[in-house]
Amino acid sequence: MIDFELTEEQRALIETAKRFAKERIIPVAAEADRKSEFPREVFHEAWKLGLANPTLPAEYGGPGLPDLESAMITEELAYGCSGIQTSITANTLGMTPIKLAGSEEQKKKYLGWLMSEPIWVSYATTEPGAGSDVAGMQCRATKQSDGSYVLNGTKAWITNANLASFYVIFATENPELRHKGIGAFIVHRDAKGLTVGKHEDKLGQRASDTAQVMLDGVVVPAAQVLAPPGHGFKVAMETFNQTRPDIGAIAVGIMRRCLDECVAYSKERKTFGTPIANHQLVQAMIAEMAIRIQATRLLVHKAAWSLDKGIRDPLTSSCAKAYGADAAMQSATDAVQIFGGNGYVKEYPVEKLMRDAKILQIYEGTAQIQRIVIAKQLLGT
Ligand SMILES: Cc1cc2nc3c(=O)[nH]c(=O)nc-3n(C[C@H](O)[C@H](O)[C@H](O)COP(=O)(O)OP(=O)(O)OC[C@H]3O[C@@H](n4cnc5c(N)ncnc54)[C@H](O)[C@@H]3O)c2cc1C
Repeated sequence: MIDFELTEEQRALIETAKRFAKERIIPVAAEADRKSEFPREVFHEAWKLGLANPTLPAEYGGPGLPDLESAMITEELAYGCSGIQTSITANTLGMTPIKLAGSEEQKKKYLGWLMSEPIWVSYATTEPGAGSDVAGMQCRATKQSDGSYVLNGTKAWITNANLASFYVIFATENPELRHKGIGAFIVHRDAKGLTVGKHEDKLGQRASDTAQVMLDGVVVPAAQVLAPPGHGFKVAMETFNQTRPDIGAIAVGIMRRCLDECVAYSKERKTFGTPIANHQLVQAMIAEMAIRIQATRLLVHKAAWSLDKGIRDPLTSSCAKAYGADAAMQSATDAVQIFGGNGYVKEYPVEKLMRDAKILQIYEGTAQIQRIVIAKQLLGT
């Protein structure tokens, strides 16, 4: 049976996240964007409310919410500011490999740590020379006789790298083996030989922290090997499958904000003696925004529902991400259009939405990579 009615719990959760976005995120968003700085205290408050690690299983002290509820939280926080939201919810990306591949001890220790204090975990596959081509990574993992590994290399564009207390780092025992050589390792921030680069000065989502992680002879004890070489690539890919619907949820949040801002502005702004809301070409752009919101949310909820039912559905997962990212970019561009010259300056909120939306077509697999994933499912190649 298909049921679109929200439960009382879901309505309460949405209300909590909506209020948090209104009271805690929106008031600081413009300044965080201008300064390119993540407001840590906002994360601390989100963590206390259980909005930071929603899918962390209850058996390890987490809220244990389904992916559908997680998407609902993400949508509301992204409405406030998708930069701040990304740095709040990115723990989901970092913890998923541990949920998928961690031993009982690793889950207890690292998932438990995320619930015992407001800390971050970062997820690191990308390198300066390998983004879309994950299997092309060069970061080396060399096994020692005691079962530990030594990591050498550089990871790039890592969300929350400066904030993280630990990282899930993917590295290879031999780059020539490509996906067959990749393993996954839990590395502590204070590990000897690990340094974090400067916070990247980005186009959009400027409040979210992004930086390189340099590994120079970093020793990873055997107890922190999440997946030995040969088993890490599958973990990385399944992680993306599970977290991509959330990118669609960010898109819905951004698009709802675009719509609200445009509805208000178009009723105020007059041209040719009448509010621009009365011009049918403006109405068309506003109507298209609503269509994209509805369509993306349906995709996101279907993808999240499948995850919650244990149904593997990478096609819908990638559709939610790919369609949502393009839809958000289009809606944000149209929002700037509706605001005219005012849309092009920082006094008004929509230029930020356009800058923020762009990253959705790049991170967690670009728009092109999503098409490749979708085509693979369809063609069986
Ligand atoms: C703000 C931000 C946050 C990020 N956070 C993280 C993180 O937390 N952890 C992490 O590991 N990574 C993270 N990333 C990295 C992100 O996932 C990569 O940037 C992304 O996968 C693209 O890789 P790339 O930048 O190397 O581009 P490239 O792989 O060099 O791609 C360049 C262009 O070529 C296209 N292209 C590449 N291959 C193909 C192909 N086969 N067919 C068609 N077109 C192709 C791409 O679509 C793109 O348009 C982040 C990036 C940013 C900017």
